Amino acid sequence: MHEDFDGCYRAVASRDARFDGRFVTAVSTTGIYCRPSCPAQTPKRQNVRFYPCAAAAVAAGFRACKRCRPEAAPGSREWDFRGDLAARALRAIAAGALDGAATDNTGVPALARSLHVSERHLHRVLVAEVGVGPLALARTRRAQTARLLLDATELPISEVAFAAGFASLRQFNDTMLEHFGLPPRELRRRPVRDVPGTGALTLRLGVRQPYDASALVGWLAKHLVPGIEELEGAEYRRVLPTGGIATLRLGTDAVTLTTAVDDVRALPDAVTRCRRLIDADADPSAVDEALGRDKLLAPMVRARPGLRVPGATDGFELLARTILAQQVSLRAAHTFAGRLVATYGKPLDAPVGTLTHRFPAAEALADASYDGIGLTASRCASLRAAATAHASGELVLDPTADRDETRRQLLALPGVGPWTSEYVAMRALGDPDAFPATDLVLRRRVEAADAVRWSPWRAYAAMHLWTDSLTTEAP
Ligand SMILES: [Zn+2]
Repeated sequence: MHEDFDGCYRAVASRDARFDGRFVTAVSTTGIYCRPSCPAQTPKRQNVRFYPCAAAAVAAGFRACKRCRPEAAPGSREWDFRGDLAARALRAIAAGALDGAATDNTGVPALARSLHVSERHLHRVLVAEVGVGPLALARTRRAQTARLLLDATELPISEVAFAAGFASLRQFNDTMLEHFGLPPRELRRRPVRDVPGTGALTLRLGVRQPYDASALVGWLAKHLVPGIEELEGAEYRRVLPTGGIATLRLGTDAVTLTTAVDDVRALPDAVTRCRRLIDADADPSAVDEALGRDKLLAPMVRARPGLRVPGATDGFELLARTILAQQVSLRAAHTFAGRLVATYGKPLDAPVGTLTHRFPAAEALADASYDGIGLTASRCASLRAAATAHASGELVLDPTADRDETRRQLLALPGVGPWTSEYVAMRALGDPDAFPATDLVLRRRVEAADAVRWSPWRAYAAMHLWTDSLTTEAP
């Protein structure tokens, strides 16, 4: 996108928020970079440069605009429909793969190893794609998280630094100065009280408009597993894999995430997981425009603009739940999942409402007997094989996965067919083009071969068809 100067300039001149996060605008006369929708006066063409991401603008010496806060824009979906090395590396870095102090098992060497390339090659590919290497991208992510924490919490500066993934205070100060032109304590918008804040902290999660929050709430309501998630109106609460509790208020205009202050070090991870769950980085204008031209889907797109594909806060949980749901009613699937949680999940130190446990870890399910859950022998075998593969580290179930490889591994599990592998690719791997063509509801509406016309947004087409059938066909 950033290479299309005229297209970018038109978006900036019309302050089009749909392009926020897809590129940034740097202005050579001010040394500032902005999101496309910045309300400031449109800069002259000759003073403007476009960069694919904030990190590239910072590397070129620009600082973030105080007015439009480009660092808080939603992420770019451009990388999501690509399965190549650069896209996978960007997804991993966005998920925090390079945060915290580097050890043998973290940092760039580990990231390169997980992608089966050398560090040099990884660096070269990223520089060619987005203009900066992995470390600069990771620094930008940390700076953005720290800025969020400075705004939303009263945490001491040193706590903010470590919670955001910085290894030292010095690195924190230097990076904040480089990104925002001010040291951390001057970035705080309001003075901090003497007593550090306790209790909960709430962050706003940026989403592009339009955003169909009510369809997402409807979907979540139909799929609640007792013990790990609950819903009250548009307020959704769930246990995260860390044991922390996330509360999401799903509004059409804004989504907020509330979590306990004690969990602040886990906050960047919680934000990443929740953004995946609510499909916050989707690009609804691109999806709606493409699918809205289709005769079958056009009325659905008109009825539900900004429909999202619900993701997952944990890929293994999603796979396990999907296996439990094979060939049984939704109600039976939830009963099984609830029993699994109560039997093999780790109890919370302090239950909150109806939330009592974490979802069972793959390790716990790899050698479980499953007595009393009510599953058939073949379902037990599927679940055990899935848990074993994931616990060993072989089966990667998050957006950093090699999607083709993960699909192959899923299909090799006993009792796992294309419906499950596509459904998991859609919700756990975040593949916007995944499509469970063998699904009964989808098969009634479209031939698998015809669904190709919706590429690369077939997952959104599936959501439209499912949501439509839920509202038009009485259960
Ligand atoms: Zn601006």
